[in-house]
Amino acid sequence: MPPSTEHGRPDPETVTLALSRDGRPVSDRGDTVCVIGAGASGLTAIKNLVEHGFGVDCYERETGVGGAWNWRHDRSPVYASAHLISSRPFTQFPDFPMPDSWPDYPHHSQLLSYLERYADHFDLRRHIWFGTEVVRVEPVDGDRWDVTTRSTGGYGPERTLRYAAVVVANGHNWSPKLPHYDGLEEFRGEVMHASSYKDPAQLRGKRVLVVGAGNTGCDIAVEAAQQASCCWHSTRRGYWYAPKYVLGRPADQVNDLLLTLRVPLRLRQWLYHRMLRLTVGDLTRFGLPRPDHRIYETHPIANSQLVYHVGHGQITPVPDVARFHGGGVTLADGREIEPELVVFATGYLPRFEFLDPKTLGDDDGSGRPRLWLHAFAPEQPTLAVAGLLQPDSGVFPLTHWQTVLFARLLQARLARPERAAVFAARVVAGAGERYSGKVTDSSRHWFEVGHVTYLRAVQRALDELEAR
Ligand SMILES: Cc1cc2nc3c(=O)[nH]c(=O)nc-3n(C[C@H](O)[C@H](O)[C@H](O)COP(=O)(O)OP(=O)(O)OC[C@H]3O[C@@H](n4cnc5c(N)ncnc54)[C@H](O)[C@@H]3O)c2cc1C
Repeated sequence: MPPSTEHGRPDPETVTLALSRDGRPVSDRGDTVCVIGAGASGLTAIKNLVEHGFGVDCYERETGVGGAWNWRHDRSPVYASAHLISSRPFTQFPDFPMPDSWPDYPHHSQLLSYLERYADHFDLRRHIWFGTEVVRVEPVDGDRWDVTTRSTGGYGPERTLRYAAVVVANGHNWSPKLPHYDGLEEFRGEVMHASSYKDPAQLRGKRVLVVGAGNTGCDIAVEAAQQASCCWHSTRRGYWYAPKYVLGRPADQVNDLLLTLRVPLRLRQWLYHRMLRLTVGDLTRFGLPRPDHRIYETHPIANSQLVYHVGHGQITPVPDVARFHGGGVTLADGREIEPELVVFATGYLPRFEFLDPKTLGDDDGSGRPRLWLHAFAPEQPTLAVAGLLQPDSGVFPLTHWQTVLFARLLQARLARPERAAVFAARVVAGAGERYSGKVTDSSRHWFEVGHVTYLRAVQRALDELEAR
């Protein structure tokens, strides 16, 4: 077991001085682990590492916990009406249930309160340095890390501390992805990314074009249907719009039952298809494009209201944007529309600016890490990424088990190095492995996982690590 520290903050008595590769003074934090970010993933990383006996320093660039769910932070992508897409029991941490009185799909403010309670219950805040941004993470001495921080906004001097291990939990839903469109710079209307959309008042009375059919794009289109004077919803392809409830139960719970019973993909696709036929029916009747893929081959869109508003004439489905011009937009089918406001719900891209991209296996500079279990990079036994997942269910339980696995790996490195070596070989062999059925290969699906398949893979990794 590593030496247990009472608290995560650097205690002057335990800090020794070293020098960085370029000769700067470095405070050596011994066996302490550094966690980057205090969103859901960072919080569960702190909790699980502390429970396994490690000292932890967490750096959070914002002033509070909660990450994406903390609507008080400028970078938070949540909007006033955002509710969970995954249902409550499948979103909560396994050791910290949400209150039974909460609805199936809690509001984003409830999620923030849940994460704040989680932090308080496990006494996590004392490990966190708020308002502190990590600007560099560099390997040193083979398996240790120099982490350089500064006050958010760049004020004050940089500070470098040396850690035994690092958990990167910086989230992947805050850096907007904006495709290139010809003529966008000439367009005289208002343009925003969904990350800046906060309140339906921003749509009220306007002619609005929403681009993108992810869950956020569909939510905003539904809001525009009720607030805007006119709403076009542009999608590149046809999608399946699944209801949030099936047979009176949250859809992810029904899906989970089928997965747990190991119902084959083809049969699940057939069942889902039947169910959609019986409820929504033929999407092309509504003017929506026919899906060009089978159900479960793109990230599920859970929205019971989109088709309803299309059917009421409050949303006009339109194809992809061909180009912008000063007064409007030319669509792929040649139609001209004149929106006053364009909302790009075109997703987010992961960003790890503080790390050399090659550290995470991104050798071609595409921005796509190549990891095992979407968490472990080859040749980096003391580095883990937490929460880089897009599951068909809630992400918190998956991140919980990812960070338990990392804590056990760090323990094994000290107590059973031969097991840690087997693990390291698995990371090399398994980097880039997928945990979902066939999904389309866009950046939107880089981190797609089926939660049951993924959790089974983590369970196997835990079993292998702890095998006698
Ligand atoms: C609209 C919307 C709806 C969603 N719905 C669901 C849902 O229904 N179910 C679900 O499970 N998930 C949902 N998600 C996904 C959501 O991102 C996760 O639930 C969860 O917030 C991920 O937590 P995280 O800690 O990995 O990332 P984040 O919540 O993004 O937290 C990352 C933290 O790291 C900090 N940070 C980043 N870089 C640095 C740095 N260099 N230095 C210091 N700190 C840094 C950030 O400030 C942030 O606090 C949704 C996301 C969006 C946008």
